[in-house]
Amino acid sequence: MELSDIQTTGKGRVYYLASHTNVGLVCIDRDALLIDSGLDDDAAKKIDRIAVGKNVGLHTVISTHHHADHCGGNAYLQRVHPQMAFLAPDVEAALISSPELEPMYLFGSPDVPKELRNKFLQAQPTRNVAVLPAGRFMWHDYLLDVVPLQGHSPNQIGIGVGKNVLFCADSVFGEEVLAKHKIPFYMDIGSTRKTFEWLRQSDYQLYVPSHGEPFGDIASVVSAHEEVVDSVEDYVRNSLRGKMTFDDLLRTVCDGYSAPIDSLQRYVLMKTVISGFVSHLYEKGELCFAFDKNVMYLTRK
Ligand SMILES: [Zn+2]
Repeated sequence: MELSDIQTTGKGRVYYLASHTNVGLVCIDRDALLIDSGLDDDAAKKIDRIAVGKNVGLHTVISTHHHADHCGGNAYLQRVHPQMAFLAPDVEAALISSPELEPMYLFGSPDVPKELRNKFLQAQPTRNVAVLPAGRFMWHDYLLDVVPLQGHSPNQIGIGVGKNVLFCADSVFGEEVLAKHKIPFYMDIGSTRKTFEWLRQSDYQLYVPSHGEPFGDIASVVSAHEEVVDSVEDYVRNSLRGKMTFDDLLRTVCDGYSAPIDSLQRYVLMKTVISGFVSHLYEKGELCFAFDKNVMYLTRK
């Protein structure tokens, strides 16, 4: 985990800690506010050591969304710093408080197979998570903007620090991460497209995604993501021929994108992504659900 200085003002500093999940650190006087906390205790210990090295006290953690690689370090920080405040947007706060809900919604039953109860899909719970509404607030001398960036998860937010930096969570990814994932994880395609449009109109000097390198040119990054989402949507639409089961569609799309499903975890994650496209096409009136002899079929309208 490397510390990079990305902005200096009169009294404070803004950093990001480069890691599997990048973490934002806003420091002023002797106080520090964190944006996300990494995957687990190890990530949180590294953050804690960096704060000690900078001679700042960890004061507040804002979780951008409930995925375990963003809030899995909260429990450790809460144990060692009981006075810390934990904030997250509505819905995400409930999922961070009750992280067993994530494998439940992915699998579709409260009786979840144990291989889905792992640290990547189920963080340790955070107690007393306060709801952080969208809008603007002052933290010491910093003007922070809580920006809705829904789509990747139900109520994800980004945090803007003044006009300089937007910590944009998993709304977009670094170039290499986008290429590696082939079909990026967006749960709600309509909301994702609105988020892309908002990002395109925004004008921060620097954008820090949670996965990948910071960048300045938001328009080209958004266009690259839109191309992928457009391509998957077209592929789903064009794959629907005659009556097709959901699993047939899932196999066809994953074959087409060389995105293998080789475990229950991969299955539930890809199922969630393709369900988002199915729902989006249904909302647009391009797809119907049909039922025959206890089988659900998808058909193109
Ligand atoms: Zn995420």
